[in-house]
Amino acid sequence: MDQAAEQPRKCPGLECENDASTLQCPKCKEMGVDTFFCSQDCFKRSWAQHKTIHKSTNPLRNLFTPSIVSKVDPESGHFNPFPTYPFTGTLRPVYPLSEKREIPKSIPHPEWSQDGMPRYPYVKKNQVQILDAKGIAGMRKVCRLSREVLDVAAAAVKPGVTTDYIDKIVHEACIERNAYPSPLNYNHFPKSVCTSVNEVICHGIPDHRVLQDGDILNIDVSLYHEGFHGDLNETYYVGDKAKADPDNVRLVETTRQCLEKSIAHVKPGVKIGDFGDIIEKHAKSQNLSVVKTYCGHGINQLFHCAPNVPHYAKNKAVGKCRPGMTFTIEPMICLGTYKDKTWPDDWTAVTADGTRSAQFEHTLLVTEDGVEVLTARLPTSPGGPIDIPPASATNGAVPNGEAKA
Ligand SMILES: [Zn+2]
Ligand SMILES: [Zn+2]
Repeated sequence: MDQAAEQPRKCPGLECENDASTLQCPKCKEMGVDTFFCSQDCFKRSWAQHKTIHKSTNPLRNLFTPSIVSKVDPESGHFNPFPTYPFTGTLRPVYPLSEKREIPKSIPHPEWSQDGMPRYPYVKKNQVQILDAKGIAGMRKVCRLSREVLDVAAAAVKPGVTTDYIDKIVHEACIERNAYPSPLNYNHFPKSVCTSVNEVICHGIPDHRVLQDGDILNIDVSLYHEGFHGDLNETYYVGDKAKADPDNVRLVETTRQCLEKSIAHVKPGVKIGDFGDIIEKHAKSQNLSVVKTYCGHGINQLFHCAPNVPHYAKNKAVGKCRPGMTFTIEPMICLGTYKDKTWPDDWTAVTADGTRSAQFEHTLLVTEDGVEVLTARLPTSPGGPIDIPPASATNGAVPNGEAKA
């Protein structure tokens, strides 16, 4: 952090290594963006490429990470790495990310820990696994540990802490349990947990943003322990203001109920495609929408595998529940549009209209006659449901007692 504070501003010119001078791009200035070049020559030479960032309507703009970063705040050393990106809401990334956290070599690492690539054979990934008694025991254990880690992280949620601090807590809690945090370096994800604030749908990267009273925060924890992965997430209210906002509460509690209602339906013979019908029906009853881009998934020795579990209605998901299957259901529900966009960090998925989104996730085992929630809450788990305010207090059309499941 301190290092970044002392770093001089770099010239964003083409293949330019120089520090920036006080020469500013006039167009950027007009747009409220600070872009400083080293010299007039360099500015001219870079113009053809540089000018493309002025057009926020350019459909290619999301393909390239802008070469400019905002001015580093001299006190904190923080900066926004994508100052010209048309953010859909008010949330901004707060960089630099903290240094990569290490996992002791004594803890078994998954395939991607070194090069970021989950090298799963195609067939294995696309075939639904039925676990034997040993596999089921392995899943029970890692899921219980995953729940413990989520609870430790959730207990630290309050206004004033950063999501990077939540990451540190998750990372250390995993090590204490002899587990590897599955997200770390998975497809090059830089941190040990996903933290998704307000309009972030999922895959938020922990950074130096400080949680505010009134925020909602999803913490998505995944552990790798003795050859198996566990995966769960919950959305938490940050401070009393968050619980006092009727739309926040309608969103978060309805999402929680969507997961509960779909889980209640899990038993052998039930179609995987049915869960989306249940989830969307309930979401719509509260005037909320369902994200389509991200789905639940099989999970076992593989972090993500078959079956694919969509959360929206009338989906074409393949297959039925069979005893010994383990998979997640993890609905993402939004106040406004269900459509998503991805930040130039290639991870952070946000709502296209910048309104809030919530998510809950469990890892489930299909039993002979129903379901076992492997990541179930413990009596000590922080968070948990609160009452939804009456319809008159929210924008949601809530015609009857449906609100409280
Ligand atoms: Zn998850
Ligand atoms: Zn998941």
